[in-house]
Formats: sequence, C-alpha cells, structure tokens
Amino acid sequence: MFCLTSHQSSMFEADKIFPDALPEEDWCFTFRDRIYPLINENKFKHLYSESEGRPNFSIKKMVSLLIFMGTAKLTWRGVEFQFPRRIDWLIATSTEVGKAKIDHTTLFKFYELLETDNTAVELFTELTDKFIELCGTSIKKQRTDSFFIHGWLKLLSRYGLLTETVRKFLLTLRKQKPGLYEKIKGQLSNDYINKELEIGEKDKKSAQRQISIVAKDLYRIKCAFENHKKIKHFQTFKILCTVFAEQCEVKENRDNQEEPEIVIKEKPDTGSICSPHNTDVRCARKNNHLTTGDKAFVTETCGPENKTQFITDVNVITSTVHDSQQQPKIQERLVKNKFKPEKQYGDSGFVNGKTILDSREAGIELEGPCSGHSQTTEAYDPEKRRLDAGDFDITISSKTKELIVNSCPNKLKPLNQKLSTKRDKILVHFDPDICRSCLYLERCPIRTGKRVATFSVNHRDYAGAVRYHKYMEDQEYRKECSIRTGIEATVSELTRSHGVRKSRHRKQTKTNLQLIFAAIACNVKRFIRHGKSYEYLEPEYT
Ligand code: SF4
Repeated sequence: MFCLTSHQSSMFEADKIFPDALPEEDWCFTFRDRIYPLINENKFKHLYSESEGRPNFSIKKMVSLLIFMGTAKLTWRGVEFQFPRRIDWLIATSTEVGKAKIDHTTLFKFYELLETDNTAVELFTELTDKFIELCGTSIKKQRTDSFFIHGWLKLLSRYGLLTETVRKFLLTLRKQKPGLYEKIKGQLSNDYINKELEIGEKDKKSAQRQISIVAKDLYRIKCAFENHKKIKHFQTFKILCTVFAEQCEVKENRDNQEEPEIVIKEKPDTGSICSPHNTDVRCARKNNHLTTGDKAFVTETCGPENKTQFITDVNVITSTVHDSQQQPKIQERLVKNKFKPEKQYGDSGFVNGKTILDSREAGIELEGPCSGHSQTTEAYDPEKRRLDAGDFDITISSKTKELIVNSCPNKLKPLNQKLSTKRDKILVHFDPDICRSCLYLERCPIRTGKRVATFSVNHRDYAGAVRYHKYMEDQEYRKECSIRTGIEATVSELTRSHGVRKSRHRKQTKTNLQLIFAAIACNVKRFIRHGKSYEYLEPEYT
C-alpha cells in the first residue's frame, strides 16, 4: 500500500543524538536539506496499490539509498549492511538511530518496479533541472559521448557458443524428456553435459578443429526435433536453430552420403546471438577488444561560463548500434526533457552530413569533426588531398532549397544538372574533353564517360564536406570543438568511481537503471561540491 514518508523530525535522529559527530559542512547535511526534499514520492504512487498490502518502506529513503549505491561500487547486501552503520547516511535520510533497517530484497524489488516504466528517468530529469536552476548552469552548450558497459556474460569463442548452445538444450531435454535425451545422446560426438569442455579462447587451434564436429551435432539435434510437436517449441531449441542458421550452412551432398556437409560461415552477422544464456546480448569490438554488453550514451552541459556542469541525458542501447543512429534520439530526449541545447558537440562517430542536417532541422547546431575523413591535421595536405563537394562552388536555392553547382574546383561551369530521384542525388554534367586534360582529374570526384563527365552530390554530402573543410582549415573552430573532450572525464568518473563499466544486471532495462542512478549520484556530488565552493541561487528548501 502506498504511503508517504512522515515529515515530522524525531529527537532520536543521528545528528541530535551525536551532534558533533560530523562537521557542519559534511555532504550529508546538504543532501538532507536540499536534495532529500526534492524527491517527489507521489511520482511513485502508481507502482503500489492504494488500499491493499502493507505500507511501503519510505520511498524517499529507498531512492536515497539507490543514489548512495550509485556513488560507489556497492552491492545490494552492502547497502543493507551499511545503512544502519553509516552516520552520514542516517543524517542524509533523517533516519532515527536504531530504525535504519532495510532488507536488500525490499530495495531490489523497488528497483525492479522502476524497471517497468519511465519514473527513474523523470526523477533524474526533475533533480537535474533543479540542480541546473540552483547552480545557474547554462544548457546552451552540451557535449555527448558513448562508452561500453561490459556485460556479465563470458565472451564465447565460436566453438564455445556452439558447445554451450548444445549443452543448454540438452539440459532442458534431459529434464523434460529424459528418454529422448538418452536416445539423442548416443548420436552425438561428445557428452556435453557431464564432460568438462573448454569453451573459452584458450585452446584456439583445437577449438577450430572441433568446431565442425559440434556443428554436425547441432545439425543432428535440429533434424531430430524440428518436427517434434513439443520440443520444437522449447526456447532452448529455438535458440539452437537460430544459432545454427547464423553460424553454419548446409551444403547438399552430391556423393549420396547420409549426412550433408556442414560448412561454418566465414563471418556471422554483427546482429547474431553471441551467447545462448542471453539472446539479447551482442558482441561489439572496441579498440580491437571484443566485448559483450551494452552501449551507453552520456550528455552533459559544457558552457565555459558554467561553474558546475551537469549530466542532462543518459541512455543504454544495444552495443552494435552506431553512435550516429542514436544521435537524433539523444536530441529528441533533450528536447522532451526541456534540456534542448543551442549547440551540441560530439566526435566523428556522431557527426556526419545527415546528423548535421537533422540537428539543424531540430534547431540544434551539431558541432565536431565529420565522420569518414581523417582528422589528423599533420597529414592534411591541401595540395594533394582528394577533392570533394566542399571544393565545388555550390549554392542552395532560397526558393526550392535545391543545390546549385556554379563551378568546379577548376572554375569550369557545368553543362547542366538534374535531380536523380532514384539515387537521391543531383547529377551535374561537365565537358569530358576539358576534364580529361584537367590538372585536378586524379583528385576530382567526377566520373568521366565518353560523352559526359558526371559529378553527383546531395545535401548530406555537401554538409559533410563543408564541415570537413571547416574543421581542417579553421584553427579557431577546432579549438572550439575541443570543448567536447571534457566529456571523457565524465565517462571516466562514471565508469571508475560509479562502477558503470560493468553491468550488475543481465537485462538491458536494469543496466539502464544502473546508469540512471549513477548519473543522478554524479549530479548530486557535483551539486554538493558547488554548494561548498559557491552560493546556491535560491534560498534553502524547507
Ligand atoms: S576534372 Fe573536370 S570537374 Fe574536375 S576540376 Fe577538372 S575540370 Fe573541373
């Protein structure tokens, strides 16, 4: 049953019983006076029954404990243990000495309730909004970066994936249909359940030799049960069939042998299953390291006039999604949460012709180096580099908004230009005879045919090329974009101090919650630090 936390203070609160235990400027007093009252319990009302069940544990205290948990690498049992023992936690949550008892399962169940909807995001947004207001932080400039959150799953080699898939299915089969298990067991090359099989990366050579044998076992199991009316609906069997389809190919046998040849695909798709224990998890490569887990995005304010910067957006998605695909969604969330910036800074993963144009449409200037080009200024040679749309004299028609190519880098005027709806590009034609004798021919992006030389371009190419030129040639602009690098420190803070590098959970929704509470904790820390160094802009909350 939903009930609110009593506002009445008690004479048995920790700071009254031990008045000088902590100095006045300790963080717990700021938390109690300024942050604790900001937690709006009514937001969580829908998670509980209004009349049935016993009253819930104080929501304010549970949210506070989740924030404290986000400040350090604490486990659920660790929070349960520390709550009655830490005087700063007792003061921060206005808890009476001797009454600070919470079972770790109560806290975890509350956390699980938050997984089901958007309440945690709303809490993060409300707190951040208030912090920004109280610290006078400007949201006009913001910067974004992404990082990997490592999953709890072991990274399996291909051999390990196939072996584990077979083992997991056989365990289900043995439990549900022991007779059928005994029957199929004799047809397989290995005792997958009872024998300890190496599934890691250690013995790569023997794994490669064994992989085709396991693939055959997979095929035998698939053929044996794909028409069985019950087993074909087993989740583990469906996973086995998917893994087989993603990793292997069946080659028709010409020599009339009983079994067809099973060929291992050279490269499975990036979206393929990488562990039978969690089919949602994907492998991703980062700096030549393969990882299982998710990708996290973090955006924070970065105006140089701000005394304190705050995180304004966090999110977790599948690790195989490219940064540029997530870019519009980051801006959508910023606009929805009323944190819309005027300028957003990102690295080349986020910035390309399309995202620049989409951002402009949303009223945000996306700044940073454009993807698809080298950003090494030392290797940038204006005399030798390949020419692109940015080197052509192009204007945008104020009426039709179409690109008009006025001349090429050699000042040659085009013969004509037309829109190719099929390719979504403008085809600009030049005299091929002049082009063939042009000094720039080797570096020019035109395609020279017999009758005409064609240059194709669209708005995205042009926006990307213009950005590339601006970034490489304008030192002041590069200096402005370097403001983005500050987000690396925030990523480091979240991953090292707040323990977000490793997910505590199996599901992505819970990993997202972990990141949200780590981001709230990070903002709370910054807000408290701001109060120690500067004044807040509003009088204290009561
Ligand atoms: S090759 Fe043709 S289009 Fe390219 S710069 Fe030379 S004249 Fe212009």
